Amino acid sequence: MPSEFMKRVKQGPVLFDGGMGSLLIAQGLAMGDAPELWNFEKPETVRDAHRAYFDAGSDVVATNTFGGTRLKLDAKGLAGRTEELNRAGAEAALSVRPPAGFVAGDVGPTGKVTGLPGAVSFDMLLDTFREQTSVLADSGVDLLLIETMYDLEEARAAVSAAVETGLPVGATMTFERKPRGFFTLMGNRPEDCLSMLEEAGVSLLGANCTLGPEDMLDLLSSIRPRTSLPLLVQPNAGQPVLVDGQAVYSTGPGTFAHGVRRLLDGGADLVGGCCGTTPEFIRLIRSEIEGYLENR
Ligand SMILES: [Zn+2]
Repeated sequence: MPSEFMKRVKQGPVLFDGGMGSLLIAQGLAMGDAPELWNFEKPETVRDAHRAYFDAGSDVVATNTFGGTRLKLDAKGLAGRTEELNRAGAEAALSVRPPAGFVAGDVGPTGKVTGLPGAVSFDMLLDTFREQTSVLADSGVDLLLIETMYDLEEARAAVSAAVETGLPVGATMTFERKPRGFFTLMGNRPEDCLSMLEEAGVSLLGANCTLGPEDMLDLLSSIRPRTSLPLLVQPNAGQPVLVDGQAVYSTGPGTFAHGVRRLLDGGADLVGGCCGTTPEFIRLIRSEIEGYLENR
């Protein structure tokens, strides 16, 4: 039976949220701190950030659990709190979910690599992703979102673990633009990502981070003909430039929202923002979606 979320995806464009890190940094999160710790220590701040996205028009917000695998938390001395921090992250988002809204349990990379001497094995990755995705699923999230993946083997482990929960699973990889096309940091090509992730059982897939809306459009036009699954695209607000030691993104909310409109015209089914995007960006995308629906 299709989930409520997948029924919603069939009805037309779905709007995800924007960046989370920048909102928490604005509230005092320091460089190097684990953002997941705030799910427990400052849940009201995390809730406010999710609420700001729902209020701006997001249909879906992603939990503040990007670095919530045991392998990743271990690097901050927080491995023993894996379950608690993921559960608190799910609760923070679920507590502000409006009746028509959805919460995606967010899963990011472990920071470990596969396929090199001394690297982690596929089974170790599977274990760490099983732990995180089962806690998120038990906490009541509507779907699982594997994102910002740059190693296809790791993404495959995360998706394989996530589909075991029975929830819909989305996966987005991060690509860089090279003279010979789009590649992940580990050298995976978009077409290989599509076929392997489809085989692993995703309900939707796509790309997020690093690329701005214009590069994403080029990537989208190369992958749209290759899959019938819904495509999720979450660009960055252009490229970061350092101003007084702070990353400032080059694309403003209006230009970004226009770019996202072109992504919808180019066949994206689900859209949102990644680094450098805020509730203001989401508000403008929401009005672009209204225009898109009127002209459809
Ligand atoms: Zn990003």
